[in-house]
Amino acid sequence: MPVRHLILVLGDQLDRQAAAFDGFDPAQDLVWMAEVAEESTHVWSAKQRTVLFLAAMRHFAAALRTEGLPLVYSLLDDAANTGTLAGELARAITLHQPQALVLTAPGDWRVLQALRDAAQRHGLALDVRDDRHFFSTVREFAAHASGRKQLRLAYFYRAMRQRHGVLMDPGPDGDQPCGGAWNFDADNRAAFGKAGPGAVPPPLRVPPDAITQGVIDLVQQRFAGHPGQAAPFGWPVTRAQALAALADFIAHRLPHFGQWQDAMWAGEPWLYHAHLSAALNCKLLNPREVVAAAEAAYRAGQAPLPAVEGFIRQILGWREYVRGIYWTQMPGYASRNALDAQQPLPGFYWTGDTPMACLRDAIGQTLQHGYAHHIQRLMVTGLYALLLGVQPQQVHAWYLAVYVDAVEWVELPNTLGMALFADGGPAAGLPAGIGLMASKPYAASGKYIQRMGNHCTGCRFDPAQSSGERACPFTTLYWDFLGRHADTLARNPRMALQVKNLARLSADARSAIGARADAIRAGALDA
Ligand code: FAD
Ligand code: SF4
Repeated sequence: MPVRHLILVLGDQLDRQAAAFDGFDPAQDLVWMAEVAEESTHVWSAKQRTVLFLAAMRHFAAALRTEGLPLVYSLLDDAANTGTLAGELARAITLHQPQALVLTAPGDWRVLQALRDAAQRHGLALDVRDDRHFFSTVREFAAHASGRKQLRLAYFYRAMRQRHGVLMDPGPDGDQPCGGAWNFDADNRAAFGKAGPGAVPPPLRVPPDAITQGVIDLVQQRFAGHPGQAAPFGWPVTRAQALAALADFIAHRLPHFGQWQDAMWAGEPWLYHAHLSAALNCKLLNPREVVAAAEAAYRAGQAPLPAVEGFIRQILGWREYVRGIYWTQMPGYASRNALDAQQPLPGFYWTGDTPMACLRDAIGQTLQHGYAHHIQRLMVTGLYALLLGVQPQQVHAWYLAVYVDAVEWVELPNTLGMALFADGGPAAGLPAGIGLMASKPYAASGKYIQRMGNHCTGCRFDPAQSSGERACPFTTLYWDFLGRHADTLARNPRMALQVKNLARLSADARSAIGARADAIRAGALDA
């Protein structure tokens, strides 16, 4: 019997409640899923990331089969696998002759185009349905953005809290934010101090079952030359495991999340973070249940308001906001380079082999676990790339390759907009020195990293020195960055103080900094 609808389910759409399944009729419809090499090679995907996606896909497919849903599934190591989504879709279309294709809106612009082209080539209608995993639709975000030149999180976040009634209490003039403020960052973001983090509650790690172990073996053999390690692997890859990881976070780490949100400590990759981004981005978890669990912990007196508000802001605020930026700005967004940065990405980003202790630690754990927390991404690996002036598209390809949670809609705005300050300026219809997403570059010297952790005590460089062999490269490159972009940054009122401090340096100091920065750019620190 001919198939009515071929329901396309991508590796980051593992949600049985997704719109693509609406109206599914097992007697007429067929689910299509495909493992393809292209998804691990269009960027040089790290092994841990590929294992996560393939293991989660195989578990989701097994659950669909148990439920009795008809499914066609291309295995990566099928002899006939063409290696591309379009190629595998073409094979399925030829075999099953569907009347139409149905898809929940994908997370990557590239994938949407590939599937649209494939549908067109076969003369089939492609029904792209809204992704209701998110609180906000892209249309709602576009309406919010309309008429605003710069897009700032704060206004969007307030509107989301009001619209969805999150952390709101009734007041005499209508609903008010809990605790009388929208944001409690003044109570958050401390450093551990000399005593360090103490005994951090370990995150829930899931030992690989036979399906996951099979994927680990496959990835180790098929992508042997790709960066990082496939094992040990402990990420949740089923909905039940993801729910257990959520419960574990709420009970053990959420109460301290805000306070230690920005803190770093050598050899401590997990700290008080949620480690839920991969489960969220594969759609094993719904953001509503994550936000509701955090709010319930606050209402039950199990977690303080600053921690809960800080956490909810990441999900209801940042996560929704970057998705809106991505889909309203693509495809031009991917090629923005507001600061005209042209330096190549240093080779040690793929190995962790660098004398800089903070970078060595952040990159090392990234290659081992596919994970680093937000401040390591923004203020260590991201900051170094910003200050060195690395070409944004190379930095983007790295972030998209190495993290288990990396999907383009969330990775690209974080990289180009937040870490590299690359998305503003005239190319975005803004004055020079003004970012679309960030109000100023996250530029800092090594002293910021020194303040937020203990890496500098074990490093051969000194964050207080800006030139010479012992100078911290972050500090050298910070002053050099301000100098190279002084004209542009001086037009940004939020950068005025930093630019003024640069002017206080003597001519000799500036020339020594310039010489050291040139040496770093020429590869003095590359292994
Ligand atoms: P927590 O710190 O515990 O935060 C809780 C949740 O909030 C996360 O799981 C995530 O879903 C959400 N969240 C937090 N910060 C952000 C943010 N800035 N943008 C969107 N969602 C956020 N996140 C990804 O999910 N995928 C990426 O590919 C990705 N790339 C990034 C690249 C750069 C350069 C930077 C600076 C940040 C990136 N982030 C990305 C955002 C953030 O760093 C991760 O979401 C977070 O570190 C994931 O770890 P966690 O689950 O322990 O998060
Ligand atoms: Fe990083 Fe500089 Fe500190 Fe070394 S001294 S750990 S390079 S910030």
